[in-house]
Amino acid sequence: MLKKFTFLLLLIVLHLSVTGQDPYYTKDRNLPCVSKKFSIFVHIVKDSLGRTGITAEEISKHLMEANKAFEPICISFDFCISDTIADYSYGYIDDFIEVGLLTSRFQKKRRINLYFVDSLGAAGPNSYSNFNGINKPDSCFMLVPKNGIGLVHELGHSFGLLHTFETRFGKELVDGSNCLTAGDFVCDTPADPNARPDNNCYFVYPLPDDNNDYYKTEVGNYMSHFFCAHCFFTTRQYEIMASNYLNSNIKLW
Ligand SMILES: [Zn+2]
Repeated sequence: MLKKFTFLLLLIVLHLSVTGQDPYYTKDRNLPCVSKKFSIFVHIVKDSLGRTGITAEEISKHLMEANKAFEPICISFDFCISDTIADYSYGYIDDFIEVGLLTSRFQKKRRINLYFVDSLGAAGPNSYSNFNGINKPDSCFMLVPKNGIGLVHELGHSFGLLHTFETRFGKELVDGSNCLTAGDFVCDTPADPNARPDNNCYFVYPLPDDNNDYYKTEVGNYMSHFFCAHCFFTTRQYEIMASNYLNSNIKLW
């Protein structure tokens, strides 16, 4: 009996060490399966010469990246409808007033609205979305440049994830002791001081936190601003996104 118990314990420890060490490993995380394919409404803002600057194949490619990221919770995205916006002044979004003007004019209800624009200035680093839009029947939107960079990050916000470097609710400590009440409220994302990556996309930050501990930020998390390295969500982030949708009173198409 003791042998059996020891063997079981060993299996559990092995399982934890495997899943804990590799942020890309999703197979045995026992994640919820949402079983939902969203049909995104795509809007393309034309440039001053009337060019869309993006093809249907390129849009599909960007969505395939998103599908890969959301596959562990059985969420996928497709688009069957798109429109083009001829007013090229919307191609360069500089502030939140312009975001409001664009979305109030072209937004489709009960859908994830994806606007491809030429650039975003003060509205965000490269892309922008309405936080937790998946819970809002008429205002789930994302603005993304035509190269698609930031799409998965903005989907993360739309499904209710904060930045890993969020400080509005207090600074998360490196030892994780306040992870439930500060930062992004996600305990399996390490504290993130929002350092700018260097030219090789490395994390470089010389200062310690309030406890004098040095940061061990994971640059690959989709909810960081290391856009050069984005490649994974953590287990808890997946759980939050899935439960946000499953517990929502409204269901987007
Ligand atoms: Zn963001």
